[in-house]
Amino acid sequence: MRRQKSFQNNQPTLYLVPTPIGNLQEMTPRALEILNQVDVIAAEDTRNTHKLCQAYGIQKPLISHHEHNQAASIPEILHLLEQGKQVAVVSDAGYPLVSDPGQRLVKEVIEKDFNVVSLSGANAATNALVASGLSTEHYLFYGFLDHKSSRRKKQLEELKDFPYTMIFYEAPHRIEDMLQDCLDILGNRNIVLARELTKIYEEYLRGSIQEVLEIASSLKGEMVVLIEGKKSETKSFDLEEALKQVQALVEEGVKTKEAIKQVAQKMNGSKNELYEAYHKQS
Ligand code: SAM
Repeated sequence: MRRQKSFQNNQPTLYLVPTPIGNLQEMTPRALEILNQVDVIAAEDTRNTHKLCQAYGIQKPLISHHEHNQAASIPEILHLLEQGKQVAVVSDAGYPLVSDPGQRLVKEVIEKDFNVVSLSGANAATNALVASGLSTEHYLFYGFLDHKSSRRKKQLEELKDFPYTMIFYEAPHRIEDMLQDCLDILGNRNIVLARELTKIYEEYLRGSIQEVLEIASSLKGEMVVLIEGKKSETKSFDLEEALKQVQALVEEGVKTKEAIKQVAQKMNGSKNELYEAYHKQS
């Protein structure tokens, strides 16, 4: 076991600093304080972070740390910490490590017994979740599904029975294909597509997957997709529709009991519930 008392030791610290996901006003005073205080800022893209630093008058050396250079940048950052320097990590937007680089770095810094401290701040998934109207009691942040449809479908198969809200990131040029796969695998569930969060064109589309899919090709910008979890069988069962289908089969000559069984099976509903409802109405 390792125990880190973040502010009661003299160990160098790696700070994980979230940055705005669109609206520059969402840089917190503490994030600015830490960026002004550290010795070095490790950035996913130094050009983007340079712009952010310029906007806030922060003058600190920037080094590059991203997925493709981490074999070299992690030892560099560890070396800085060993020298007693404080280092901040930032990504292009939101939290580092959340669908962004940093995971391996944090693991290695913890293994060396340096402090790892995270600051509160912007994150697209959380913004989208709390305004979505979908259940927030339990949820899964998935991040990006695979780019390839066959692999994406496999991932969705694994999530098919998950009963809680699921949160995905997606790029606009893939949104149509992604939603089509969601429709095919998960069925026509309730969905919220939240785009351009915190920016002037912020928009929430709340409806069924099918409805959002119909206009998906026209949607631009950065987007988060939230899909409701699988409902319990009794809740998702459309009793009125089921009764209509039973009636139609009975009129075709199918025995009532058999018609109820077939419809309950087809609609993934409760046979007993349908049986009771059918006999109550007749
Ligand atoms: N680290 C970021 C975070 O904490 O949210 C996420 C980085 S990930 C590389 C970028 C994805 O996040 C985008 O493709 C989009 O799905 C989502 N995203 C980022 N900013 C957003 C915004 N303003 N509105 C909606 N989605 C956003």
